[in-house]
Amino acid sequence: MTKPVILTGVRANNDLHVGNYFGAILPIIDMARRRSAEYTVNLFIPDLHSFTTPIDHSQLFDSIMNNARVYTAAGLPLDDDAIQLYRQSYVPAHSELTIILNNFVGFGEMERMTQFKDRSRSNDRVSVGLFDYPVLMASDILLYNARYVPVGDDQTQHLEITRDIAERMNHKFGELFTVPEPVAKQHQFFGKDQGLRIKDLQNPAKKMSKSDETGKGVIFLNDTPAAARKKIMSAATDSLGRVHYDKEAQPGISNLLEILTLVRQANGRAVSLQQTIGEFTGLERYGEFKKIVADEMSEFLASFQARLAQVDDDTILRKLESSEITANQTANQTLLRVQKAIGLRR
Ligand code: ATP
Ligand code: MG
Repeated sequence: MTKPVILTGVRANNDLHVGNYFGAILPIIDMARRRSAEYTVNLFIPDLHSFTTPIDHSQLFDSIMNNARVYTAAGLPLDDDAIQLYRQSYVPAHSELTIILNNFVGFGEMERMTQFKDRSRSNDRVSVGLFDYPVLMASDILLYNARYVPVGDDQTQHLEITRDIAERMNHKFGELFTVPEPVAKQHQFFGKDQGLRIKDLQNPAKKMSKSDETGKGVIFLNDTPAAARKKIMSAATDSLGRVHYDKEAQPGISNLLEILTLVRQANGRAVSLQQTIGEFTGLERYGEFKKIVADEMSEFLASFQARLAQVDDDTILRKLESSEITANQTANQTLLRVQKAIGLRR
């Protein structure tokens, strides 16, 4: 019996920030550790997704490796064979299946993707790659017969289209693909703690984002503790002048309370958000509060960066290369099934 497959990845485009770390990487690693006895966990670096929006290509190779380093420094057990860590572009079947599936997906259904609509509005040059990325994502999932894919709100539509494509192909050509579970089941499986969203420090109405142009409100994992301190000390707050957890009226302060809780936990202190809120509610000196957040953040960054510096690239490369052999085997089996079904192979 083959074990069911869980699949997830974090795009390597720009430097990772604390939102990625606490909102995605730590939960993924925690999940992988807990589930790897009963499931195969495919953790991949979607490097072909990196330039659907413009990036600095001279940095790409490093940022792909850096993703793998960050996972390792954050506690990913590289010696667990049930956890696969591979780079998408090292498995050519992703590209090939995408080209095939493109012909079975309607232009109209793709045009309805809200993330495409949002992103194309904010970019002056919209590529076909950006438009097509949900089909590439469908290939990422279907090649490995993945059942479980953790999806945040921005990805639910893409999971739905993946399911539609799989069902359509199965209907037309016989059982080709494992259809991933629907969104509600995914939330049940992973627990709906995917709601965590760290907000931009300068504009707490939006989430912290890698592709933010200024980066002033974003704390990157490679920011020096001093730079992070500066960003926190100049975080946007409000004119109410009293610490209070109220995401509507005091989004900046509420964000800082959440960040403080997460970094305290990362620094080994077992505190809940409720405890942190209880401790600081009513404080009237924002500067004093920010300084506490900044201290805790500096401690976190310093220790994370020390762990990152210890990570051994050779060990990571060996893990990537051995996972890529396995990934190619599985993906090529699926691809061949499809090629036969559509008449490209006997
Ligand atoms: P981009 O601006 O390129 O979209 P991003 O910062 O939004 O970058 P993604 O690559 O889209 O990051 O997302 C990687 C993972 O990090 C996803 O699982 C996403 O849900 C999570 N994530 C991204 N931003 C945050 C945030 N501010 N707080 C919590 N989790 C986040
Ligand atoms: Mg994003």
